[in-house]
Amino acid sequence: PEALFGTRKNSTGFDLTEREALATIDAARAPFKTARFEARPLIAGTAQPLAAVAALNPASGEVIGQVLNASEADVETALAAAQPWTASETERAEVLNRAAAFYEAHYGELFAALAREAGKIQLDAVAELREAVDFLHFYAHNIPMNAQARGIFTCISPWNFPLAIFTGQVAAALATGNAVLAKPAEQTPIIATLAVKLLHEAGVPREALQLLPGDGATVGARLTSDARINGVAFTGSTETAKIIRKAMADTMEPGAPLIAETGGLNAMIVDSTALPEQAVRDILVSAFQSAGQRCSALRCLYVQEDIAPTIQEMLFDAMDELSVENPWDLDTDVGPVIDDEAAGIIRAHVAQARAENRVLKEISAPAQGHFCAPVAIRVNGIEEMTREIFGPVLHIATFKSADLHKVIDAVNATGYGLTFGLHTRIDNRVQEVTERIHCGNIYVNRNQVGAVVGSQPFGGEGLSGTGPKAGGPDYLWRFTTSAPSDKPQ
Ligand code: GLU
Repeated sequence: PEALFGTRKNSTGFDLTEREALATIDAARAPFKTARFEARPLIAGTAQPLAAVAALNPASGEVIGQVLNASEADVETALAAAQPWTASETERAEVLNRAAAFYEAHYGELFAALAREAGKIQLDAVAELREAVDFLHFYAHNIPMNAQARGIFTCISPWNFPLAIFTGQVAAALATGNAVLAKPAEQTPIIATLAVKLLHEAGVPREALQLLPGDGATVGARLTSDARINGVAFTGSTETAKIIRKAMADTMEPGAPLIAETGGLNAMIVDSTALPEQAVRDILVSAFQSAGQRCSALRCLYVQEDIAPTIQEMLFDAMDELSVENPWDLDTDVGPVIDDEAAGIIRAHVAQARAENRVLKEISAPAQGHFCAPVAIRVNGIEEMTREIFGPVLHIATFKSADLHKVIDAVNATGYGLTFGLHTRIDNRVQEVTERIHCGNIYVNRNQVGAVVGSQPFGGEGLSGTGPKAGGPDYLWRFTTSAPSDKPQ
């Protein structure tokens, strides 16, 4: 009963090294290059949204459409109308698989919205659509048979994966038969609206999936403090997760789960046996891809002292090659950060490092929009970093071989435990370090972002999240009142 549809494969996406693929993508996106988008509450009942606000492109400030946020009345209507999805496991799986096909068929519009609303470069947009499709297939494929849905689930998703994480949470809650009230990040409600329309078209009942765009204070707070809600899936900051947990404790049944994926303060260790070319490539991807706006991104690189000059020289030369441009352009490597507030925090952090003479390397970025140029900053160790800076900012420390354990202890002492990278060619060291480090996802001799659904379940420990890991075998059970041990043998 575990596999409803035989074997499952992850999607193939597009190979962006092929000219034909690029031309196909370009043609499919073209009609949506200047199109006006809209986000609105999608509820089972009549919506009375708040006054429209403009949605802005983070790269240019251009108005790309309008957002109608849910009113308190809309939240109430949605809560009253919510109905768990009682279709059979097979039917639910079929609908979710159909939704995946609809997502793939609408790639032109989704890529355009990912670029224009979220500032995603094309490489990231392709990866994001793939991940969303893979979540739909993976959860459809792994629906636990005869498990009991919890009831109504709130799903609160972040702007950095406005399609993939939004879809992953919603698909998991729906696959297990719950009713979903989804609140997308305020910065990316348009992509969520497109996604929910496709899920509805695929056959998800309107009472089972309702979309409530809005801010945390009105919609988010309401959706995390109501006795009728039976669980919350949340991806976002550690601080917000704590607020949600408290609100849930005060209002919901004691067993209502909070499934949270939160922040990280992620490190990579490169020792002197590492292959420099490979390490540099993986540092670049881990720190700067997606403009560093991944909770998995590399924040603090530890390089063994004797190879630090080599690694830094190669890395800084490679940084000079990065193109920081409009995300719509197919050869852009680094797009904008999400908004003014994000840019302000990053720029203030870099300005302080500059004032303290700790900037090792900085490249230039367009002046308009919310661009932040990739930068490398010297630190003595991760203990100097008190908060996650969510942008293309890499901190670099050096270490002596004898201090390896101290480095690991310092990384563990941050309390976060999301991703960790290790570059070494000493097998014993892989064993030793990976046993000692407390992190959800550990990557050896590769980059540390872009966990793959099904094969690299993603999630952290400590301040980084509650588990179970998304895209892994245990995730769906948490959305039910059953346990994996109830699984029919
Ligand atoms: N799953 C993503 C990755 O592996 C990160 C998710 C996030 O940033 O929240 O890079």
